[in-house]
Amino acid sequence: MAKLSDPITILKGVGPAKAKLFANLDIFTLRDLICHFPRGYEDRTQLVTIDKLEVDKPACFKAVVMNHPRTNHIRKGLDLTKVQVADHTARLSLTFFNSRFAAENLEYGREYIFYGAVSGDFIGYDMTNPVFETLDSAPVTTRRILPVYPLTAGLNNAAVLRAVRQALAVCDPPQEIIPEAVRREHGILPAERAYYAIHEPASMEEAELAKRRLVFEEFFVFSAGLSLLRASRAGKATAPYADTDLTAFYEALPFRLTGAQRKAIDEIRADVVRGVPMNRMVQGDVGSGKTMVAAAAAYLAVEDHHQAALMAPTEILAEQHFQSLQRLLEPLGVRVELLTGSMKDKDKRIVRERIALGEVDLVIGTHALITDATVFQDLGMVIADEQHRFGVAQRSKLSAKGRDPHVLVMSATPIPRSLALIMYGDLDVSILDELPPGRQAVDTFLVGESYRARINAFIRKQVAEGHQCFVVCPAVEENEELGIKSAEVWADTLQQTVFPDLRVLLLHGQMKGAQKEEVMASFAAGEGDILVATTVIEVGVDVPNATLMVIEDADRFGLSQLHQLRGRVGRGSAKSYCILTTHNRNGETIARLKAFCKTTDGFKIAEEDLKMRGPGDFFGRRQSGLPAFRVADLSFDLQTLKDAQEASARWIDTFGTSDAPEAAALRERISELFYRAEGTMN
Ligand code: ADP
Ligand code: MG
Repeated sequence: MAKLSDPITILKGVGPAKAKLFANLDIFTLRDLICHFPRGYEDRTQLVTIDKLEVDKPACFKAVVMNHPRTNHIRKGLDLTKVQVADHTARLSLTFFNSRFAAENLEYGREYIFYGAVSGDFIGYDMTNPVFETLDSAPVTTRRILPVYPLTAGLNNAAVLRAVRQALAVCDPPQEIIPEAVRREHGILPAERAYYAIHEPASMEEAELAKRRLVFEEFFVFSAGLSLLRASRAGKATAPYADTDLTAFYEALPFRLTGAQRKAIDEIRADVVRGVPMNRMVQGDVGSGKTMVAAAAAYLAVEDHHQAALMAPTEILAEQHFQSLQRLLEPLGVRVELLTGSMKDKDKRIVRERIALGEVDLVIGTHALITDATVFQDLGMVIADEQHRFGVAQRSKLSAKGRDPHVLVMSATPIPRSLALIMYGDLDVSILDELPPGRQAVDTFLVGESYRARINAFIRKQVAEGHQCFVVCPAVEENEELGIKSAEVWADTLQQTVFPDLRVLLLHGQMKGAQKEEVMASFAAGEGDILVATTVIEVGVDVPNATLMVIEDADRFGLSQLHQLRGRVGRGSAKSYCILTTHNRNGETIARLKAFCKTTDGFKIAEEDLKMRGPGDFFGRRQSGLPAFRVADLSFDLQTLKDAQEASARWIDTFGTSDAPEAAALRERISELFYRAEGTMN
């Protein structure tokens, strides 16, 4: 018997080359293979007669071969094999392209089961490339329910199917983790049966049951994980902060805080004097001023003689936070330092030493903060900016550097309420639903290529007025996909031919950290008129003097992403604009982009985005740092999620400490779910 953790190369027919293809699907072990679930099924169980075949609807039928197959060599690389078949209702001519298999295996006078669709544009019926099997062979491609797998170039459905079958034959499916009582109560299939039936269902009903079980299982693991996190925190105590007077902080600010900012800060103040570690999320649209809330939280910790850490997802953002917070807080006596991966080793070492000695009060950085080399003297407050980029694991790794520090996470991704409650069920939430005064809505337009001259004239006008422009392209380099703008090429074009007299800067994710920083810093300092960039600028970067955001091939971006990009302008007092260009003529796409032009409400846009792309993408692994569900679909399976949440809540006491094999397996699955594939930031 093989183990689930064995590599797929132990299977027959899976050599190094095939394994590479499977790796494209994130399949490395037998477990991965068994957990590679079909995205749908083709019901090939029903046999019809030839006269009942419908145009373009594939079906199975039994027929006799009526002549010897004839193959014509049409030209190099194209052979056509033709053969007539019939049952008692009708005749049908079949055509195979380049199929030696058909030419050699279809025998005159013999009966076969075929599966294919007739096309109706010929006189009479015609069918191309049906699959077929003899009546006495085991059903593989006909007379069964065929799973349809997600594929990758070079790997077809049959190859995946064969590998999955073998895997199921050589090892036991993943262990049961749902207690029997729960299974009985909810009519859930046992693990063994479900993992088998999802790949080899005897009926469509069984496929449905198997899927339901696996959806339940995913949610069960997820909810159980959240319950454990919550339970482990509930038992924790921390020394309550003395209630700090924030007057000095408020007076140091260059502006008055909005009501929403004050309210969020008050909520944080109330948290830190309670004697229980805070676990709060601040959710606010781009530009709502989350940084100041973070600053207040850090200030509270420092005033109570603890250290604070602010973790940003990119170097650019860390650098920017460092500059603005240093300016704000150092006059108040807070010692602020920066720690990022691209700093010189020597500088990093010095900063780390000072952190360990308690000579730094607030350290701002990227994930360099969470490496083992960083040790705090007394970390009391952990703040994660743009939290959707960090995983649960990364947050908890930073937390582990203090003794149950307070945790504050900031998110600019408005998450539809129904989902937020579920996904962040373990967090308290403050919402910044008010923009700083003087902000005007960013006027947004959707235009086609015919507007190019006008766009250029508009860019020139903004620059002439002393402002700066962003131009965002979907790709870094020239793409094979025709006509998609690349940042490199477009920056070059703009500089060489369109605006030779203006200063065009280029910024993209493939540049080195220090180089990116330099470009961003010089743009922020007004040393460039136009910044051509990829989505690296999406997160948080602040250049109040920028008034125009041009997004090329806007249909390539998700709506939430467009919203983030648009949020890069309109941060100063001057009127700002966002121009979306597209070549796309798809009616739905255009409607979606037009709707985007008319709304500025991030929550509405998020709802729309969720509908269009589904939570799989919305909460995509890389985007959210949240576990990606394999089978479950949050927009359809909410009831199952509620059931699983209730069930897992009732079992928390049991599986938290139980040494039953089910409980151990569940704990293992939880850590896998929360910790898998994290560390893929940037
Ligand atoms: P985000 O919520 O997107 O992180 P920031 O914290 O970057 O927003 O703030 C956006 C801009 O608004 C910054 O330039 C910041 O200095 C400014 N800002 C924040 N709060 C206020 C306020 N209450 N009044 C005026 N400007 C503010
Ligand atoms: Mg921000």
